[in-house]
Amino acid sequence: MVTSLTAAPQHHSKQDAVARLTALRESIARRARDCGRAPESIKLVAVSKTFSADEVWPTIASAGQTRFGENRVQEAIPKWRDLRARAGDLGKTIELHLIGPLQSNKAREAVETFDVIETVDREKIAAALAREIDRAGKRPRLFVEVNTGGEAQKAGVLPEDADAFIALCRQTHGLTIEGLMAIPPANEMVSPHFALLSLIAERNGLTERSMGMSADWPLAVQLGATYVRVGSAIFGERDSPH
Ligand SMILES: *Cc1c(COP(=O)(O)O)cnc(C)c1O
Repeated sequence: MVTSLTAAPQHHSKQDAVARLTALRESIARRARDCGRAPESIKLVAVSKTFSADEVWPTIASAGQTRFGENRVQEAIPKWRDLRARAGDLGKTIELHLIGPLQSNKAREAVETFDVIETVDREKIAAALAREIDRAGKRPRLFVEVNTGGEAQKAGVLPEDADAFIALCRQTHGLTIEGLMAIPPANEMVSPHFALLSLIAERNGLTERSMGMSADWPLAVQLGATYVRVGSAIFGERDSPH
C-alpha cells in the first residue's frame, strides 16, 4: 500500500479554527505595531457565515472570541440564539455584525438580532432602521457601506453620493452613523479602495472603518481599518461561495 507523504489539510477541524484564530490575533497585533498603530485599535470580526453553531462554538468557548459577522439575517437568527444561550454570561458580551445586504422588510429582525449593522446603503433602509430602533428601544451601531469600485451588481452607496447619504441618515432619520464599510472589487488592487474609504470617513468625522478580509487585512490595517472581517482564514474554506 502506498501512503501519501502530504496529508490533506484538515480545514474544518475545530482545533484548527481555535489555533488559526489565536495565530491571526497575534499577526494582527504585530502588523499594527509595524504600521505604528496600537494593536487594540484594530478589532477582529470573525466571519462565521455558513459555519454551524457547533463549528463556531470552540472559538467562543476556547478562544474567548465575542465579535462575529454574518451576512444573512435568516441564517444568523437561530444560530446566534443557540450560541448566545450556550455562552451564558459571556453571551451578553457577544457583538454580532451584519455584513451582508439588508432588505427593509428584515429591518425589524436585524435590529433585534445584530449589535452592529455595517450595510446601511439606501434611504429605504435608513428609514426602516430608524422606525425599528424607535419601536424596539434597541440601538444597534450603524455603518454605511460604500461601493468604492462603483460596481453595478454590488451593494453600497457610490463614493460620490456618500457625504450626502451620511448627512441624510443623520439629519432626516436621526441615525447615529459610526463608520464606513467596503468590499473592494475582486481582482483589483485593494489599496486605492481602502484609502478612499478612509478619506470619506475622515471628511465625515467617522472613526470606524470596516475593511479587509482574509486575503487583504494586512493592507487594510496599514490604511486605517478599525475593524477587519476575517472568515476563511479562521474557519477554513466555505463549501458554498455565499
Ligand atoms: C464573507 C465575507 C467576509 C470574509 O471573507 P473571507 O475571505 O472568508 O475572510 C468579509 N466581509 C464580507 C462582507 C463577507 O461577506
